Amino acid sequence: RAKELGGGRVEVFAAHMHADVVRRLELAADLRRALLAEQFAVEYQPVVDLVTSRVIAVEALVRWWHAGTYSPPRQFLGAAEDTGLIVPLGEWVLAQACRDVAAWRASAWDIGLSLNLSTRQITAPRFVETIEAALAESGLPPSALTLEVIEEMLVEDAEEVVERLSRLRELGVRLAIDDFGTGYASLALLRRLPVDIIKIDPSFVSGLGRDDALTMLTRTIVRVGHDLGLTVVAEGIECPEQLELLREMGCTRGQGYLVARPTDARGIETLMPAGLSPLQNTA
Ligand code: C2E
Ligand code: MG
Ligand code: MG
Ligand code: MG
Repeated sequence: RAKELGGGRVEVFAAHMHADVVRRLELAADLRRALLAEQFAVEYQPVVDLVTSRVIAVEALVRWWHAGTYSPPRQFLGAAEDTGLIVPLGEWVLAQACRDVAAWRASAWDIGLSLNLSTRQITAPRFVETIEAALAESGLPPSALTLEVIEEMLVEDAEEVVERLSRLRELGVRLAIDDFGTGYASLALLRRLPVDIIKIDPSFVSGLGRDDALTMLTRTIVRVGHDLGLTVVAEGIECPEQLELLREMGCTRGQGYLVARPTDARGIETLMPAGLSPLQNTA
């Protein structure tokens, strides 16, 4: 009896694992088809000067048009990374975003592009050449491109990643640490890394004014970041109180639903005449 039960449990477990493997394989096959069928899209979220409301740059965020709706990256980036599909997908996002932003700049709008990368992309063969080619083909100057990575990518087994990013940085490309404060790149380590920008993680910003420790930590990150000569961007600004505190702390750049939501290229173009975030209307 006990043996029967135990055996059953093993079978149930195996069935779960099986279902999981099948789901992942199906997802991988779906992604592969989606890439061929051009079912991906890029949305852009403005990065805004919190003092003037001027749009400084846009962050490209990949979307998958799937089953009648846009799937957010967290639902498919893991599978895209595991299968290596992130490499051609990332190249597609890079080319698309460089073209869009270069076109906006050609209409005398001085904005930059920020692009998210994963380790798998950076360590892929010809990564540096791929970025250089996208810049050359679109005419986007290197100084208008920011590459976003998370702390772990620069700290864990990161020699090759740091070397490749440094080569691009020498061309004038900027580097940003995304989700700053959630990993373990200490503020001291920042001095040794080839970094220009830190993006404070939303988990700090959401605590502003509600949590003393998070408020104090945010203030410290802004101050030390500026002391190190870095640009500091606050992410995930959702309410006016957070915005006020950030301004008071001297944090001059931000992103978040309050400031501007991610939108398609046409949505960004509606901001072009004045180059200002919709925040203007809410402030
Ligand atoms: P991230 O780079 O930290 O991007 C910020 C995420 O926060 C985006 O989610 C954005 O839509 C969301 N967001 C912006 N403002 C707010 C706000 O006020 N409140 C809240 N709750 N969320 C806000 P999204 O688009 O789902 O992207 C998730 C992550 O996927 C990104 O985090 C980035 O790490 C990754 N990702 C997106 N596009 C790409 C890509 O093309 N390549 C790679 N490798 N990763 C990407
Ligand atoms: Mg990012
Ligand atoms: Mg982030
Ligand atoms: Mg993130």
